[in-house]
Amino acid sequence: MFSNTTRYFHDGFQRWFKRQNQIPQKKKRTWAQSATSNAVNGNIKVLDAHHLQAPRMEVVSFRAGRLPAGRIEQLPLHQNAVGQYYAFVLCECENQSLAQTGKRIGGDLGLKALLNLSDGQKEPLVRYNKQLSKQLRRWDKQPAWRRIGAEAETARDQHEHPGNVRTLADFKTYQCARGMVAKLKAHAANQRLDQLQKYTTRLVKTYDVIVLEDLNVKGLLKNHRLARAISNASWSKLVMMIQYKCAWYGKQLILVSPAYTSQICACCGAKNDLLSQWLKVREWDCPSCGVHLDRDTNAAQNILVKGNKQIA
Ligand SMILES: [Zn+2]
Repeated sequence: MFSNTTRYFHDGFQRWFKRQNQIPQKKKRTWAQSATSNAVNGNIKVLDAHHLQAPRMEVVSFRAGRLPAGRIEQLPLHQNAVGQYYAFVLCECENQSLAQTGKRIGGDLGLKALLNLSDGQKEPLVRYNKQLSKQLRRWDKQPAWRRIGAEAETARDQHEHPGNVRTLADFKTYQCARGMVAKLKAHAANQRLDQLQKYTTRLVKTYDVIVLEDLNVKGLLKNHRLARAISNASWSKLVMMIQYKCAWYGKQLILVSPAYTSQICACCGAKNDLLSQWLKVREWDCPSCGVHLDRDTNAAQNILVKGNKQIA
């Protein structure tokens, strides 16, 4: 556990010396905690479907959908802000290639639908954070108020009995409100993650070559009107998942430049300059060949064409 902490600390500084990263920052005190143990002499064991043996701990019971297979390497333990514990059993195992289907697909990331495929299919974008916004608005203010109250109490403690000063952890009302906010946010994050995992697996199973735009998400997040919607959509996570799943299962992901993909007609190749200003226009007719186009599906088809050029 401690050897990993020192290793991460060393790695952080080495990267800074090589000018790869910024100088390591002091870790913020948060309610979420984590620690990583290395597997040495079989100290980490999955005993059965519900029991895990971890170093320096008694046997703990767990719940999981799938059991780890292969040689265990590391065991990172996480406690999230809600107070739930997660154990990630890292294993080394052989990658299993999925059957080749011979299909290629282009995809356009969007805010109306999460991913528009070039064959016209759309994966819906559920705004999980918006579904909870009513409850969140109610609970988000509470911890701030209760924290002020708790800090006033600790200040009084320091005067009246300096040997026995309470910390924030001792104030149940504050902890309850903080836990409630963390719970709501974790619920939204879990739902989003579940959708992404299932969708990306389905994509990688169905298609051999997946072509996506190479987006600059950090740059897009600077647009304050769209930032909340874009970060909820979690485009980077989606691309990252497709990337590693393609590598696992022997499929191919191609990233192409997103320039002009939404303005060119996929049918005849004419460029419609008017479209660049109109984000609202979802469907349009090509001025040169007259085809009726769906904005997002058309973009996905252009992306697929660009990807095909890169392969050839
Ligand atoms: Zn056209």
